[in-house]
Amino acid sequence: MRGDGFVSEKLATFLEQNITELKQKGLYNVIDPLQGANGPMITIAGQQLINLSSNNYLGLATDDRLKQKAKEAIDQYGVGAGAVRTINGTLELHIQLEEKLAQFKQTEAAIAYQSGFNCNMAAISAVMDRHDAILSDELNHASIIDGCRLSRAKVIRFNHADMDDLRAKAKEATQSGQYQKVMVITDGVFSMDGNIAKLPEIVEIAEQYDLITYVDDAHGSGVLGKGAGTVKHFGLSDRIDFQMGTLSKAIGVVGGYVAGKKQLIDWLKVRSRPFLFSTSLTPADTAASLEALEILMNSTELVDQLWRNGDYLKQGLKKLGYDIGMSETPITPCIIGDEQQTQTFSQRLHELGVYAKAIVFPTVPRGTGRARNMPTAAHTKEMLDQALSVYEQVGKEMSII
Ligand SMILES: *Cc1c(COP(=O)(O)O)cnc(C)c1O
Repeated sequence: MRGDGFVSEKLATFLEQNITELKQKGLYNVIDPLQGANGPMITIAGQQLINLSSNNYLGLATDDRLKQKAKEAIDQYGVGAGAVRTINGTLELHIQLEEKLAQFKQTEAAIAYQSGFNCNMAAISAVMDRHDAILSDELNHASIIDGCRLSRAKVIRFNHADMDDLRAKAKEATQSGQYQKVMVITDGVFSMDGNIAKLPEIVEIAEQYDLITYVDDAHGSGVLGKGAGTVKHFGLSDRIDFQMGTLSKAIGVVGGYVAGKKQLIDWLKVRSRPFLFSTSLTPADTAASLEALEILMNSTELVDQLWRNGDYLKQGLKKLGYDIGMSETPITPCIIGDEQQTQTFSQRLHELGVYAKAIVFPTVPRGTGRARNMPTAAHTKEMLDQALSVYEQVGKEMSII
């Protein structure tokens, strides 16, 4: 053992060099633990802040109805599911959740996973292999990128939302005769920019070239299509093979899922590795997710409130002169650019009581650092007004607006 506790000199050097470098470049992320719930206001180190960084779009993470269902599920089933789904970790609750998800997405069936990230790991590689190719938008989420890698299919990136580029690459891939199957995969709503995928054109290209269609709707579900998601928003429910989503954002809990044709879901249940080899969702998470879907399917009240708040903040930031990029949904970035300046900007917001986390490389491309704002249904107009006044002060102070 070395004096610093590492066994390996190589590991010690690797960590020391890389952490120092990240810190010098302003890329070293510091984590702020919350003292309490992740609601519209949060407390960090004793300071109350307006929270513009959570994915809890509808405020459901702290909803009393969900909490009640989670408690009842713990009393009835305990805290853990006890096994992987395919041994005996499938509770009736899981089946109810999957049936509800299928209704929610208007598909024949659905399969639930332990997270959205592991869902993408699971589902892509269950269907695609080294004889196949995947056309992937260059701004797709990290879990899609990793899921594609895991499948060992050839990954062909197309320029962000560039349908001419996608069409050309789809044509080339399918006509080369090199690949058995070709998939096109995209975020429904892009999480760092808040723009919506051009699904009608993607579907048209897919139908022309016989592509498998896969939409990751982590940020669209509970937000677009009166809550049902981006695919529903465009009326394409029967033309997308994989409607992937997460239970951790608008749904407010944790977990992931794919909704689609029954045969596809049957295949995922026998072939996707996290379903076979990782313990199923806890009873509390499953019951709370079910309740959230119930709420969403019965009323658009929370979704409507989310959009009112989103539009209000977006218009306010725009009026102040911020560059909000391509945003068309409640996700509203204020693009600052330089990484170091972005960190300083976000830090200054924090000092003045607004939590809008700096998002920098590698989460977004270099030179496009931003403070990303996620207004939710739970924010009040007073909170948003206060946030806007802080944005005005800091923007002027730093000569950004
Ligand atoms: C957040 C996110 C995921 C991962 O979902 P989790 O449930 O948090 O693991 C996957 N895809 C996209 C586009 C996301 O934004």
